[in-house]
Amino acid sequence: MNAPIYLDYAATTPVDPRVAEAMSRHLTLDGIFANPASRSHMPGWQAEQAVEGARRQVADIIGADPREIVWTSGATEADNLALIGFMRANRARGRHLVTSTIEHKAVVDTASALEAEGFEVTWLTPGSDGRISPSRLAEAMREDTVLVSLMAVNNELGAINDLAALSAVVHARGAAFHVDAAQGVGRIPLNVDDLGIDLMSLSGHKVYGPKGVGALYVRRSPDIRIEALIHGGGHERGMRSGTLPTHQIVGMGEACALAATEAAADQARASALAGRFLDGLDDIEGIHRNTDVAVAVPNIINLAFDGVDGESLLMALRNIAVSTGSACNSASVEPSYVLRGIGVPRSRALTALRFSLGRFTSEADIDTAVAEIRHAVTALRR
Ligand SMILES: *Cc1c(COP(=O)(O)O)cnc(C)c1O
Repeated sequence: MNAPIYLDYAATTPVDPRVAEAMSRHLTLDGIFANPASRSHMPGWQAEQAVEGARRQVADIIGADPREIVWTSGATEADNLALIGFMRANRARGRHLVTSTIEHKAVVDTASALEAEGFEVTWLTPGSDGRISPSRLAEAMREDTVLVSLMAVNNELGAINDLAALSAVVHARGAAFHVDAAQGVGRIPLNVDDLGIDLMSLSGHKVYGPKGVGALYVRRSPDIRIEALIHGGGHERGMRSGTLPTHQIVGMGEACALAATEAAADQARASALAGRFLDGLDDIEGIHRNTDVAVAVPNIINLAFDGVDGESLLMALRNIAVSTGSACNSASVEPSYVLRGIGVPRSRALTALRFSLGRFTSEADIDTAVAEIRHAVTALRR
């Protein structure tokens, strides 16, 4: 049997072959494998050079200085480091954090853990388009608000927040702005200075890099202070200890360099493919768009199918790989908290599937997917 057509790019992207090739040169004895912290020999210096080259590639795509990039194991760790590290380091200034109910679990669960630790959290609710309103944010800001954490692009809906307008509200009140940009890199422009971002979480595996690597951008001017969560050899200027995984880091750097040159073409193709997909499904009755395509990235499309259980549809679509809700909660039958969060009724949320496409999706893939969905939906409704 052929491999299923992959339409789950929002859960993870395949590693671009050019990235895999760069990584493979940083593993074995004939490559650059040494510990980048080894200062006493040439192989160590070469590894350090490779890491610093990648640091610049990541910094470049967000308009940052390489010294503002802290390597982590992924966006989950970056979110933890940003929220916990910042709130603990700034507790003398205030204990209030603002975030939203439809953030990724890496932010939602971290904010809940901070509540249990004695910090206070205000949970903003989004509009039905999945975006956070700057005026709602302004109402939530308090004297003791020190941090606001909102995502760039929602992983289930594709909705894009107006980061410039939100950051203006945050900074007018003297707080710092953290953005989870795991789904944003390579999809929308993300210049930290233009958008006024102080902390930003990135992930390797959402941009055709490897899993298990990410980064936290930490602004140097004005200086943003965070406390380390992982202690050890004082790597990453004391903010995140642990031997740097050179091959992972080189992979993430290469992936970002490719995104810098290919993002525009990737997104233009995604737009055309998304249009083809939605046109193809247009004449099937009872399909609702949970994604408001006017304010979303083109590569994520969340649809609800009247009268069809999402789990059953997923099973029936044997030749396409998609997810119900987000991959992170697909093990449970609870409807997606993100769909519930934008006001989708429980019964409709249970009929939803998320289709996400990417760099390697073809027109033929889309046509096959449309035909499969038509067939499965018709059969399940019968
Ligand atoms: C995937 C994702 C994460 C988690 O990233 P990892 O690198 O897998 O830890 C966090 N936030 C968002 C929005 C994501 O899409």
